[in-house]
Amino acid sequence: MAADGAEGNDNGKDRVPGPGALDVVVVGGGAAGLAAATSLARFRHRVVLVDAGEPRNAPAAGVHNYLSRDGMPPAELLAAGRAELRGYGAHIIDGTVDAVRALPSVAGPRFVIELTDGRELRTRRVLAASGLVDVLPDVAGLAGRWGRDILHCPYCHGWEVRDQRIAVLATSGLAIHTAFLWRQLTPHVTLILQQADAEPTDQQWERLLARGISVVPGPAEEVVIAADRLRGLRVADGHVVDCAAVAVSASLQARAGFLAPLDLTPVAFAMGDTVIGSRIEAEPTGATAVPGVYVAGNVSDPLGQVAGSVSAGLTAAAAINMSLIEEDTDAAVAAARLPVPGADPQPAGSLRRR
Ligand SMILES: Cc1cc2nc3c(=O)[nH]c(=O)nc-3n(C[C@H](O)[C@H](O)[C@H](O)COP(=O)(O)OP(=O)(O)OC[C@H]3O[C@@H](n4cnc5c(N)ncnc54)[C@H](O)[C@@H]3O)c2cc1C
Repeated sequence: MAADGAEGNDNGKDRVPGPGALDVVVVGGGAAGLAAATSLARFRHRVVLVDAGEPRNAPAAGVHNYLSRDGMPPAELLAAGRAELRGYGAHIIDGTVDAVRALPSVAGPRFVIELTDGRELRTRRVLAASGLVDVLPDVAGLAGRWGRDILHCPYCHGWEVRDQRIAVLATSGLAIHTAFLWRQLTPHVTLILQQADAEPTDQQWERLLARGISVVPGPAEEVVIAADRLRGLRVADGHVVDCAAVAVSASLQARAGFLAPLDLTPVAFAMGDTVIGSRIEAEPTGATAVPGVYVAGNVSDPLGQVAGSVSAGLTAAAAINMSLIEEDTDAAVAAARLPVPGADPQPAGSLRRR
C-alpha cells in the first residue's frame, strides 16, 4: 500500500497524503518532531509526521522548565502542537515507522518509509525525532510508579517534592553528583548504594557527610506502597528506607531501530567514564552520516529537556530547509542549461543576462 505524498493546505483537516514524493517525513511527534515539522510546513514544504504516540514524559502530571507552560500536562502541550502543525497544512499519521530505506536517485537523497501497518511514504528527507527509552533498574514496583514518585530529574520535578524525604538510587558513581542536586531542594536525602561501583571515594564521603546526606548499603529490592502512596524502599537486609520519592538514573537508550537499514545505529553515550545510554551521532545541525537523514531531540541528545528538544527540532528543520532549497536550485539551473533543439549551446555565464 503506498501513500506517497501530500496535498495542499486544507486548514487543519487530517488529510490523506496524495501522490508524489514528500519533502520531509518526520518520525516522532514529541517536542522535537512537532517543532521541526511546524517550521518546515511554514516554509511550504510537503511534510508528513508519523507518531507512535508514546512521548517519554507521558507519565508525568505536568511539564516544568518550559517557559509560559509551567505545569501543563504533557498530552495537552503536544495536542496544541499538533493543532498548530495541521494549521499549516501538514499531515499527521498515528502510526509506527518500521524501517527507513534509501532509494537510488540521480537528484539527491530519496527514501521510502515503511510503517508497521504496511503503508509506505516516499520522501526527500527524513528527520528522526523518535526520542529514547528509559530502561529502569530492576527493583520490584519501580516501573509502575515511574514519573509519579519515581523521578528522573531534579530540574524537572525537584521543586514538587521539596523538603520531603528523597532516596537516591546509586546505580553508578554519577548518582553521588545527583544526590547533591537533590540536597539543594530538601535536607532529607538518603543515598542507597545499589551497585558496588557506586561506593563513594573518601573525599566524596566527607562531602556527603558535610551536607547531611545519609548513605545506606543496598541494593534496594522493592518499592513499598500504602494507600497508593510511596512509603519507602525495602533494601536487601529487610529494612525500609522511608521516602516520599525516589530519584533514579535510568539507562537512556535511543529509539532508532528503524534507521538500521541505513546502517545508522546508536553509539554509547557517556558522562566522563560512565556510559549512561546511547544516541545517534550527528552534527550540531542534526545532520547524520547518511545524507538526507537528520535527528533531533532525545534520540541524539539524551539529556535534552523539552525546551532543548524544541530548539534541536528547529535547528534541524533549518538545515533541512536549506538543503531542499539548494537541491531545487541545482535542479532549476540544470534545467535552464538544457540545450534547446536548433539553438546555439548557452554558456553557463549567459544565464545571468536573462
Ligand atoms: C517522567 C519524565 C518526566 C519529564 N518531565 C520533564 C519536564 O517536566 N520538563 C522537561 O523539560 N523535560 C521533561 N522530561 C524530558 C522530556 O520528556 C524530553 O526532553 C522530551 O520528551 C524529548 O522530546 P523528543 O521529541 O525528543 O522525544 P519524545 O517526547 O519522547 O517524543 C518522541 C515521539 O516519537 C515517537 N516514536 C518513537 N519511535 C517511533 C517510530 N518508530 N515511529 C513513529 N513514532 C515513533 C514516540 O512514540 C514519541 O511520541 C521528562 C522525562 C521523563 C522521563
